[in-house]
Amino acid sequence: MNILQDISKVILDSKKIGITYHVSPDGDAVGSALALLNGLRTLKKDAYLISKDIISENLQFLKGANEATGNLITPVDNTSIVVVLDCGNYERISADLDNFKGSIVNLDHHITNDKYGELNYVDIEAAATAEVVFELLELLGIDFNDENDDIRDIGTCLYTSLVTDTGAFRHSNVTFRTHNIAARLKKIGVNNTYIHQNLFDNKSFEKIRLIGKALNDMELLFDRKVALIKIPMAYGDELGIEIGDTSDIIAFGLQIKGVEVALLIKEIENGSKASLRSKDKFDVRNIAEKLGGGGHVKAAGITLKGIKLDEAKNKILEEIEKELL
Ligand code: 5GP
Ligand code: MN
Repeated sequence: MNILQDISKVILDSKKIGITYHVSPDGDAVGSALALLNGLRTLKKDAYLISKDIISENLQFLKGANEATGNLITPVDNTSIVVVLDCGNYERISADLDNFKGSIVNLDHHITNDKYGELNYVDIEAAATAEVVFELLELLGIDFNDENDDIRDIGTCLYTSLVTDTGAFRHSNVTFRTHNIAARLKKIGVNNTYIHQNLFDNKSFEKIRLIGKALNDMELLFDRKVALIKIPMAYGDELGIEIGDTSDIIAFGLQIKGVEVALLIKEIENGSKASLRSKDKFDVRNIAEKLGGGGHVKAAGITLKGIKLDEAKNKILEEIEKELL
């Protein structure tokens, strides 16, 4: 019996369903969670979001995004199951589930997934967790041939996940299935231009200036194979903005001819947060795992608690250098 079918049965048998994702949720986490939320509501299920985080500005166009207020962080009474999306490790869940007596359902696509939860389904072939959610919603009875606003809203969430986790259909994680789901969503009227504009062409002037500052200080190391971008918190203070998502900034590192690895490190409240991206064969997940992080071969991250930006930089570069040799 297929585990995803088992999961769909458990969901159909559940009255109250909590939905959450990884901390600092990205487009795939949010798109997957809101697709499931809206899908379950279409099926008249009592579903709700649990989130320590507020969803970032560029994802607020998705239906239900405003329901993540950052205030509801534990399941409410009588919740039968909590579905956790796009989150590889129990510790990184954007909810406190320690005292939850019901079942945790873990749906993901990270090869590093710990397989926490009573039920887990990790499809490492999926470019985005949204591919798993698409399949699950079909099993639950959502008809993606149905051209109505409810289905289009769900489709908009899923398409957003696909775009954000594939670098707009650019990365090697894209498969026939990725394009096939995108095509099916386009067919029922999901508006790809509207999604792209909301995601990418909606930045504040200050954010563009932050990009400028970060790029101005970018360094090329190790025979110009590694691009290093550092973002101290002071940058945000100077411009009067929250630093927020920086995946658009690290992408510039890989645009440089000859660069194999891009490393972006930002100073956070209690330490440093690093993002790693690679162009071809270099395995950044391996580097991230050595330092307590995780992710995918070509996109990984590390949270370094209590470690200052420069120290974090040295630790990571040391590991990168070993791999480059
Ligand atoms: P990003 O650099 O965009 O934050 O993350 C890239 C990838 O690495 C994502 O798949 C994300 O889930 C994973 N990732 C980011 N930060 C961490 C972390 O601190 N720990 C783990 N285990 N994975 C992370
Ligand atoms: Mn993902």
